[in-house]
Amino acid sequence: MVDTLLAATTKMHQHTHQLEQKLNKTTAEVNSLRDNLEQVRTEAMTDALTGIANRKRFDEFMLKHCNVAQKNKQNLSLVLCDIDHFKRFNDTWGHQTGDQIIRFVASCLQRHAAKNHLVARYGGEEFAVIMPSTDGQTAFDMADNIRASVESKKLLRKSTNEDMGTVTISLGVAQFSPHDSIEDLIERADEALYRSKHAGRNKVSISTEAQDGRSAA
Ligand code: GH3
Ligand code: MG
Ligand code: MG
Repeated sequence: MVDTLLAATTKMHQHTHQLEQKLNKTTAEVNSLRDNLEQVRTEAMTDALTGIANRKRFDEFMLKHCNVAQKNKQNLSLVLCDIDHFKRFNDTWGHQTGDQIIRFVASCLQRHAAKNHLVARYGGEEFAVIMPSTDGQTAFDMADNIRASVESKKLLRKSTNEDMGTVTISLGVAQFSPHDSIEDLIERADEALYRSKHAGRNKVSISTEAQDGRSAA
């Protein structure tokens, strides 16, 4: 009788131990799946060439922070940026070296951005910085620092060490107005960028108050 009871207890302990092991294994699997999912989510929002945010993340961040700015009557500014005469670089040095320059500009933008800013690759050789809690003048000053920093760096072609001279960027700044839709804000920043291009490039322009008023109409 005692022997039978002992055997049953031992068996039960073994069974419990096996169950515990199974549970631990399952927990580890769930944790690993969760990590993988997080990684996939991050990758889906990241530009593969530069490692900065991609257009999808830009759209998401813009929607969230324009809503916050509108609701809490806070400032928000948008900076759009485009590499000057980039085609020439590609034509002269090849697409791969062009990629190197895109990465260089992305890193300059990232270095100058504040913690709460989002730096994104907006298109091929176009970038955006969303600056929550930042007025237009501050955004303009930051944009001009970025412009100067890009211009100041002598570029060496990685593969051959050849001197490629310098690259410049043009920028457009717009401050979010409560009447703006997201499209209005992007359009105004884009217009300002266009003005920088037309004024000779390597410049920053800001969407004026008058234009803010016009977009509200
Ligand atoms: P602008 O000063 O008026 O901006 O002149 P631009 O030559 O920079 O402008 P344009 O828009 O005519 O040319 C942009 C070029 O960027 C065209 C395209 O081949 C190149 N480009 C776009 N995406 C990439 C990319 O991922 N890598 C490389 N290497 N080139 C790219
Ligand atoms: Mg362009
Ligand atoms: Mg360009």
